[in-house]
Amino acid sequence: MKQANKFVDFLTEHPLFLIPLSIILSLGAPLGWLILDRIIGTSLNYSTYKIILLIYMASGTLIVFLGFISIIVFLVDRINEAYVKIKELKELYERDYLKLKERMMGLSSAIGDLAKSKEEDEVFYKLAESANTVIGFDRVLVMRKVVREDRTYLQLVEARGIKQSEQHPLLYDLLPCDERLGSIAIACSKGISILYNKDDVLSERYKLKPPYDKIKAFRSRSFVVVPVKIKEEVVAVIAGDRRFSNEEVTRDDMVMVNILADAAAHAIFSIRTKLQLEELARLDSLTGLYNRRYWFELAEKEFKKARRYKMPFSILMLDIDDFKKINDTYGHQIGDQVLSILGKIIRESLREVDIPGRYGGEEFVALLPVTEEEAAFKAAERIRVSVENTFFGIDRKITVTIGVSSYYPAEDPDFNKILLWADKALYFGKKSGKNRTVKASEVIKRSEQQGIQKQ
Ligand code: GH3
Ligand code: MG
Ligand code: MG
Repeated sequence: MKQANKFVDFLTEHPLFLIPLSIILSLGAPLGWLILDRIIGTSLNYSTYKIILLIYMASGTLIVFLGFISIIVFLVDRINEAYVKIKELKELYERDYLKLKERMMGLSSAIGDLAKSKEEDEVFYKLAESANTVIGFDRVLVMRKVVREDRTYLQLVEARGIKQSEQHPLLYDLLPCDERLGSIAIACSKGISILYNKDDVLSERYKLKPPYDKIKAFRSRSFVVVPVKIKEEVVAVIAGDRRFSNEEVTRDDMVMVNILADAAAHAIFSIRTKLQLEELARLDSLTGLYNRRYWFELAEKEFKKARRYKMPFSILMLDIDDFKKINDTYGHQIGDQVLSILGKIIRESLREVDIPGRYGGEEFVALLPVTEEEAAFKAAERIRVSVENTFFGIDRKITVTIGVSSYYPAEDPDFNKILLWADKALYFGKKSGKNRTVKASEVIKRSEQQGIQKQ
């Protein structure tokens, strides 16, 4: 019985085998008759022979019929199998397609959103958010590149899904871009993307050896690190993984991070360009100092601050001596050159917090926050002496006269009055021989004394 079952199984699996079998069986009848006829002679009568022949024919036909049925069953079975497979594939494809569509839509809106950023910090925030929500990384790091005295550092600006204890080695400080940062250091210094998963180490060009084969504090087997580059210059690095869901980071993920990083780079570039243009519009092109309009804007702000916090400040007003003669003797081009060098001297003689500006043709001003008259006088003298000792490219010394006036909260004059007194001090300096610095307080004292004398 077992043998018979095996034979039936064999036939169902190999239905075509029934065809030769049925042919053999069909041919069996005449062959059998021929053999019997030869060996025994025609001892069988015609009707017995007919019955045997019929049985053979019938069994042959039955087997052929069974054969066809088996072939049909086999084919139907295969078609069914194929149909189920196609259905499964279709479902799988539809699921993947929907997932991809969702990710693409998320990516597209993230790109649009990044482009709307007003500040660099906003770009980094959105970059980390999109890597988290659109790409589906459960841990994300965004680090900004900082260059100080020719050394490269990285500073954490955004983190998602990172525990405080893991953040600790990365937090707050500027971290030197070295092996302590693992793959992040490579992505930052070489400007390449790095993908780590079980099939891929994408950085074949730069085979990563420990400790560069991981990200410090990530302890992840599969991760991606992508640099944010503006014209080949790395400005930040983003890293992500799926530590909590324990899923691999794929090449598709890396492509998406690259797209986001490119969008972030464009956003940062346009923010920086806009800032540079705004800065240019605020500067006087010849001297590089603030132009008159912007100087007044900044000075008003400082004045309000000084008033609110009851702090002093001083104003320097500077005018080149006999500049008309310089123009007349050497021409306007040399005059311009003198103005440009003078702008540099003023900028370099003052502190970072001081606000120098070009007030008019060859007149300059500077606001020195939290500075009393005496200290402002010293700063003015520094400029005056420096100008006197500078070679301006002509066989003649250039000198300047400076007026100094100060704001004292106790007196609380308005801003124009302080400017007016600086101008008066300057005028007094011109009258009394030029190439000197004059304090407004001295001019006031003098005029008071003269007033007393006249009385
Ligand atoms: P003082 O010592 O009394 O200040 O005499 P000064 O000749 O410097 O004074 P004045 O105000 O009469 O002349 C200023 C000159 O500065 C007149 C003007 O031609 C020149 N000047 C103003 N702006 C510019 C500029 O942008 N470039 C050049 N080359 N010259 C300028
Ligand atoms: Mg003048
Ligand atoms: Mg002058």
